[in-house]
Amino acid sequence: MNFSYVNSTHIHFGQGQISAISHAISTDQKVLVIYGGGSIKRNGVFDQVSDALKHHQWIEFSGVEANPTVETLDKAVALAKKEDVDVILAVGGGSVIDGSKYVAAAAQYEGQGWDILMGKHQVTEALPIGVVLTLPATGSESNMGAVITKAETQDKLPFMSPAVLPAFAVLDPDVMKSLPERQLINGLVDAWVHICEQYITAPAGAMVQDGYAEALLKNLNVLAGEFDKRDNDAWRANLMWTANQALNGLIGSGVSQDWATHMIGHELTALYGVDHARSLAAVHSSLLRNQMQYKRAKLEQMGQNVFGLAPSPELAEQTVEYIERFYESLNVATRFTEYKGEKSDAINAIMGQLELHGMLALGENQAITLDHSRQILEVVVESSTL
Ligand code: NAP
Ligand code: FE
Repeated sequence: MNFSYVNSTHIHFGQGQISAISHAISTDQKVLVIYGGGSIKRNGVFDQVSDALKHHQWIEFSGVEANPTVETLDKAVALAKKEDVDVILAVGGGSVIDGSKYVAAAAQYEGQGWDILMGKHQVTEALPIGVVLTLPATGSESNMGAVITKAETQDKLPFMSPAVLPAFAVLDPDVMKSLPERQLINGLVDAWVHICEQYITAPAGAMVQDGYAEALLKNLNVLAGEFDKRDNDAWRANLMWTANQALNGLIGSGVSQDWATHMIGHELTALYGVDHARSLAAVHSSLLRNQMQYKRAKLEQMGQNVFGLAPSPELAEQTVEYIERFYESLNVATRFTEYKGEKSDAINAIMGQLELHGMLALGENQAITLDHSRQILEVVVESSTL
């Protein structure tokens, strides 16, 4: 398919690169530094950022939670407007970066920020954004997407705009040293699903996109297999760069994209607080099996080129089993059990939200109707363990 591709985010990769922000932001710009619950105060990242900004005028906003909420972010929007800031510096993982994208866009808009998520306001203007990435997973540091939650109604919705593509991003693998094991695993899993959502669609003969996607999947498979080497500089650097490349627009250009696992997963997070990556692992294999008629050819290709499996009539099914093994090797569940009450009530609740959010025909062929989502969830949701 035809495509236009640009990714203008200037990446500063490597140890000690946080200091690069002192030149990446001009000293005549007033900066709003946005961060999360305080991990950056404990691991030295905040000190490095303060040092790099010592000749700048800057203010801060902290407390952006995982799965950032509009309730919290609107306070940052008010601050950005009141203080008339020129640029936003997001210091954190996907939640802080996505939240900062919302703040950057809503600060340039007179209406309610939530209009952006409802599609009532198309974002064409935003404050410029810089990023110091602290958790490799989402690719948000150099893409134009963001996912925002409204806690009040348990809505978790995405928006996209070229206006919120970060101007620059610092990727210093040393910041990963303080990451809890759970978050490192989440990063491996989220990046894995990002690649799959752009790769396990109809074969299009796109050699660059396919070959690159396969290289990235192989990297993640190796890094998961070598999880005991996670304290090694090369392991960290490879995960950080792979997760970035997994969702920076390149492998999805010119090919059809799925994203149904993400859309269903978002409802699990919004309703039950499941970590983003874990919501995806719960949904993924059931969805692939449900959509086998469309996915078979690409799963066969993946089986051979990523997992090194031999051709056989069952190759696509076997590849899905290998995908489940990838999650299980990281102790990530491939089913959802962490809810209270009856299985049927949980499925109905998720279905209700999917319908409310207009998720009526998901996937690269819009073949995942509500009936298919229900079939997928019948497998995903197992009896509660709570
Ligand atoms: P996250 O929600 O940003 O962070 C998870 C936790 O990790 C937080 O408690 C955070 O603590 C902690 N943390 C971050 N960096 C740390 C470090 N270096 N050391 C110690 N702790 C650290 O996780 P995420 O997986 O990166 O982001 C998930 C969000 O991104 C979800 O809302 C998801 O929907 C969204 N997402 C966006 C895209 C996109 O393209 N835009 C794609 C996929 C997912 P502190 O708060 O204390 O820092
Ligand atoms: Fe994701």
